[in-house]
Amino acid sequence: MHTKSLTTADIELHLARELGYDVSVVLTDNSFTLISFKKNSGSLKLRLHNMFRFAGPPELDTLGAFISGKNRHKARRLREFFRENSSLVKKSPVRWERFRHAGAHHDLGPMFKELNHRYFGRAVKAGLTWGRETRSGKRLKHIRIGSYDWEKRVIRIHPRLDRASVPGYVVKAVLFHEMCHAHLGTEKKNGRRLIHGPGFKELLSRCPDLDRAEKWQEKNLSRILAP
Ligand SMILES: [Zn+2]
Repeated sequence: MHTKSLTTADIELHLARELGYDVSVVLTDNSFTLISFKKNSGSLKLRLHNMFRFAGPPELDTLGAFISGKNRHKARRLREFFRENSSLVKKSPVRWERFRHAGAHHDLGPMFKELNHRYFGRAVKAGLTWGRETRSGKRLKHIRIGSYDWEKRVIRIHPRLDRASVPGYVVKAVLFHEMCHAHLGTEKKNGRRLIHGPGFKELLSRCPDLDRAEKWQEKNLSRILAP
């Protein structure tokens, strides 16, 4: 991806030179129609998806050719550009309202805000929700009391932590752990992915009441996760 992003003026200038039209560009987030245009005696009104901010001169040339109808076969190059930048289309902003922050006993929303402000400089951008209770009556195999979904960028906290008997600092520590994942992504060392690498451990060590929370978990978690 090109590091320098274009403005509408950059795109307008490029296409005006190429096509000889008076060009006006509007950038949109419409992921159904990536390009639409209207030509009108000497002027061209163009609506483009935001990803064109990351286009290089070859893509803009191709776009111009596509609009002028001269080189329709060049559309393949545009399709490649769309494919390469598809993450920009799919990545919808995190929709908070779909998630359930407030449980019966613990509200994840204020906890997240406070931790994000105090320890992450408000840099953690992730959805947040209480998870759903799984139906099976079996004892939970893995102690997945928190998880971070890399694809959807969502932190889920196990609903069994939403109990009066679970101290707030325990919920916070679980949340903090997942926020570290959301903040750091995965580290790599010698080509191997490290989920809980040194950077992660360093960040996690700043978690308030971490020792206390871990001790509480050792003592009580099996009871909480029992069917
Ligand atoms: Zn982890």
